[in-house]
Amino acid sequence: SSLALTPAHRGVIRAAMTALWRPYTQMKTAAPPLEAVRTHGSRIVLADGRELVDGIASWWTAVHGYNHPHIAAAVAAQLEAMPHVMFGGLTHAPAERLAARLAALLPGDLNHVFFTDSGSVAVEVALKMAVQSWLNRGVTGRTRVLSFRGGYHGDTMGAMSACDPDEGMHRRFGAYLPAQVFCDLPGTDAETAALDAVLAFHRHELAAVIVEPLVQGAGGMRMHPPEVLATVARLARRHGLPLILDEIFTGFGRTGTLFACEQAGIVPDILCLSKALTGGTMALAATVATGAVFEAFWSDDPAAALMHGPTFMANPLACAAADASLDLFEREPRLAQARTIEARLAEGLAVLRGRPGIRDVRVLGAIGAVQFASPPDLAVLKARLVERGVWVRPFGDVLYLTPALTIGPADLDLLVASVVAEALRSA
Ligand code: PLP
Repeated sequence: SSLALTPAHRGVIRAAMTALWRPYTQMKTAAPPLEAVRTHGSRIVLADGRELVDGIASWWTAVHGYNHPHIAAAVAAQLEAMPHVMFGGLTHAPAERLAARLAALLPGDLNHVFFTDSGSVAVEVALKMAVQSWLNRGVTGRTRVLSFRGGYHGDTMGAMSACDPDEGMHRRFGAYLPAQVFCDLPGTDAETAALDAVLAFHRHELAAVIVEPLVQGAGGMRMHPPEVLATVARLARRHGLPLILDEIFTGFGRTGTLFACEQAGIVPDILCLSKALTGGTMALAATVATGAVFEAFWSDDPAAALMHGPTFMANPLACAAADASLDLFEREPRLAQARTIEARLAEGLAVLRGRPGIRDVRVLGAIGAVQFASPPDLAVLKARLVERGVWVRPFGDVLYLTPALTIGPADLDLLVASVVAEALRSA
């Protein structure tokens, strides 16, 4: 008998390998994923026993490291009491408490919290709030948003429409998406004048301005100084437009302050949170509005209500996890830890500056990014870093680190040394 696989065998194997459709993955050609079995601290344990130091805190979420006992205990207690209950017509203490705490922590009168279950949907809700707030005030025709080149706001339809239009990932959906207005971030006087002119030209069709404050994450870890953000806020206000800040990546200490907008001294009209909201343990997001936005929905008319309500919104387990995560920000020195990481990244990555093949090195808070002159082979780069015991997920021409804020000095040193060595090799 032959050892060769029959077509039937091949079919079984193929079915087993493709039952699970992976994210952002060409299933036919991509290397199989690594299997994670456990996590602890800032480490991921693989099925084959290897341990990787997580350089990116699970897509920028696990700010307290993995398996923090305080969050685990809070979730376990909530699991006993009530894992989930629908939120239509019912409420519960975990959600009420979390909303009150977020309102108290956020600047200005960002006091009205709408919970959803992912960052993309938090952005959808922000867009719906902006568009409907105009309609509720009797103003029609304001159906577009102004967004910035280099921006990334998520993978759902509305969120995709606000992503950089030249960014490859969503380009083929163009025909399905609302046509938004795009501008460069106002880093120079000319760009400021251009933004002012675009806002003036489009003002009667714009519902809002949306921006990622201080760093455009998935668009390439592009950083801008607080003054640029302040300029965006000033121009939005000048043209009577609500400002939506997407703090899904930057929120909860990543840039060195609890929220990035604090560094520019601005308060948006709507702010989106997710990712680190639960310390990276549960799917939860929040869209938070100021009193002025909320008031546009405050009416005797049922049709003026915000018509949104995901089945799992305000999931009690996730709210309990987020509440415990906020405890940790109060009790433990997370922002100081972010500053320590910033200093270590700045010092460690500086050797790459000016090297052939390296275009730029950028550090802000607990974010360190190395930009290559041309995109390296990302699969090779990732594989080499895994061999060094490091987990990263570079994109395009950027290799970056966004570790847990609690990462210890030895693990951080391993991340920095490995990134430096492999960046030099790949450049
Ligand atoms: N907005 C920003 C700034 C993000 O970085 C992301 C995710 O990377 C999103 C929105 C989308 O969030 P989610 O992946 O939870 O839908």
